[in-house]
Amino acid sequence: MKGTRSRLALLCAAAVLVTTGTATAAPDDRTGFTTTADTYYGGYRTVSAHEQHLDQVAREHPDLATVVDYGDSWLKTQNRGGHDLRALCVTRRQPGDCALSPNTTKPRFFVMGQLHSRELTTGEIAWRWIDHLVGSTAPEIATLLDTTEFWIVPIANPDGVDNVQRGGDTPIPHRKNGNDTNLQGTTCGALSYDHHGVDLNRNTSSNWGLQNASERQCDQDYRGPAADSEPETRALEGLWRSLYRDRRATDPAQPAPTDTAGVVLSLHSYGNYSLFPWSGGATTRRVGNDAALRDLAQDFAELAGPGWKYGQAGQVLYSASGTTEDWVYDELGVASFVWEMGSAPEETCGGFFPAYSCQSGTFWPKALPMLMHAARNTAAPYSPVPEPTTPCATQVNDTDTPVVSRVPVTVTVGITVTACQGNARSASVVDVRFKNMTVTPIITLDLVAPDGTSYHLQERVVGTVPDNTYSFTLDLSRESRAGTWKLQVYNVMWLGTGDLDRWSLTM
Ligand SMILES: [Zn+2]
Repeated sequence: MKGTRSRLALLCAAAVLVTTGTATAAPDDRTGFTTTADTYYGGYRTVSAHEQHLDQVAREHPDLATVVDYGDSWLKTQNRGGHDLRALCVTRRQPGDCALSPNTTKPRFFVMGQLHSRELTTGEIAWRWIDHLVGSTAPEIATLLDTTEFWIVPIANPDGVDNVQRGGDTPIPHRKNGNDTNLQGTTCGALSYDHHGVDLNRNTSSNWGLQNASERQCDQDYRGPAADSEPETRALEGLWRSLYRDRRATDPAQPAPTDTAGVVLSLHSYGNYSLFPWSGGATTRRVGNDAALRDLAQDFAELAGPGWKYGQAGQVLYSASGTTEDWVYDELGVASFVWEMGSAPEETCGGFFPAYSCQSGTFWPKALPMLMHAARNTAAPYSPVPEPTTPCATQVNDTDTPVVSRVPVTVTVGITVTACQGNARSASVVDVRFKNMTVTPIITLDLVAPDGTSYHLQERVVGTVPDNTYSFTLDLSRESRAGTWKLQVYNVMWLGTGDLDRWSLTM
């Protein structure tokens, strides 16, 4: 199962580079690595160049930029070289700004690159984002610098990037951190799907050890011996705890308050996806702020252009557990996103190692509008749009529809709304009634908005009493009322027979 999955050519989580350069990469030899060059592979910046860049920006813009050391890489904790973990805070600094305290006034937009070290585009986008913030003369940037703190970690996994850049013009596809502790009596290779280290995006304590997080230390998605086992993981979590107030609800299925500020963005490649929690756990599970996150993720995908999809990882791609994106929402209630930058390897500018010219030609023109949209929404990513002032009568589909058969089918029953304009209410109600049920099946119900956004209502056991009516209240305030709404009914157990009697929508 795992072997099969590891050969799927999918985004950052399990992609395999099938190139001769990768397959014949030199055995791992970190101790022999030295470089004085600032770039490799046509222009990509080394770890050392990134470190110098942060220092230089802070030196040249003391009113705007501050370097923060937030921890040590694994190799540094072992006294084997390694790196400080470094972030840059950019804002027009007022007293108290950029403090490692969640009790500040400016909302914080956090961007992270190269948590997966081989995903070269992500560090480059972070570099350019820094330069744009301190160098742009656009009035909107000036306003944002007055009102917002920008936090950038261009290289979240510097030990891993050291391994990647060792390959020079044939970058080594190292994804994980530098931890080469031999826990399982196995010596790992230097291949995309077989190398040492812990996957830092499978190592957090949120949903740790569930789907697609290997227990084998050489696998590219090795989760580590325990949640939060790696210093890079713990350092990031500590940094986020010091930057964001804990606004989560007791139950993550309930929303964090609508005035929760802040956005955390983790850049990955590839696949052209705009993702948000949950990445781990049941794919039908939704965070309390699902509607707002889904809405912003859709915006990002539309800004990115054709071919981009948005959704939870398990909906549009596949699940991943122990991720940083889940941790940020799970522990703090903060809006959290992943962008998987770039198309498949066989396409132009695809894969982990696109030509450096793709950065100016393809990725930066795409990333900048997306970053700006995230920046504009950092103050209140969950803020609801105004409630509709014009009431809308309850819309009903009263057609009897057989929904329970002995085969697993999804029945879709639509309601087309034409008379109501504007957005739906934050407390919209869906009523669903079944009849003629012969046994007690398990039915899942999803509401699909006119724009295709799906809202999972709940798994319900539908009893055999004559009138089984179920009522669901949900936040549809991000949805335009006009158009065709669909109710999707799926009999999980494929047992019994019966009918959907009617369903209605009050919004
Ligand atoms: Zn990745």
